[in-house]
Amino acid sequence: MPRGDREAKLVALHAEMRRCRRCLDAGYPITPRPIFSGVATARIMVVGQAPGLNETRTGRPFDGPAGRRLFAWLGQAGFVEDEFRRTQYITAVTKCYPGKKGARGDRVPTAAERRLCAPFLARELEIVAPKLIIPVGRIAISRFLGEIGLDEAVGKVFNRDDRLILPLPHPSGANLWLNRPESKDLLHAAIIHLRRLRKSMSV
Ligand code: SF4
Repeated sequence: MPRGDREAKLVALHAEMRRCRRCLDAGYPITPRPIFSGVATARIMVVGQAPGLNETRTGRPFDGPAGRRLFAWLGQAGFVEDEFRRTQYITAVTKCYPGKKGARGDRVPTAAERRLCAPFLARELEIVAPKLIIPVGRIAISRFLGEIGLDEAVGKVFNRDDRLILPLPHPSGANLWLNRPESKDLLHAAIIHLRRLRKSMSV
């Protein structure tokens, strides 16, 4: 797709997402403010689970404590946060804040909500056509690799439909997993892969 067409399609898709009320209409208590950022020329797409409250307030994906941890990992691979945000693409499986689940943190979007939002992610992928996808957390990883445990996913690079998939754990939702010594080794392996891919893609 020519670059101008991709940029125009992405602008139209963003406008459509901002108007979307599908989850509210279906009775889910989301905050209708889709959160995403990035450009049609991005070669890397980060896909999280859903925005949190911080992101919904600021309008920037991965803008809270989880984002600081994620960008610390990306920084270890050689990426600079401001440049990454300006030149790559960041989105989520569901684009709107799902709300709290009691006192235990944010609610995980239901399978039905994920289905409602799935066409938007499919169109982002089609328009941006990233070479490398970084799904962050179990829900995002399952979107690309099916049901697979973090032990099987993190530290590896998968090839699906000519796209490279490099899974990362959720920076705030996988604390128990991240605290194990063997998990730190897997995360380190993922960062080494990411550093190598950044250099080979000249990003
Ligand atoms: S989460 Fe997705 S489908 Fe649901 S209201 Fe937001 S943009 Fe629409």
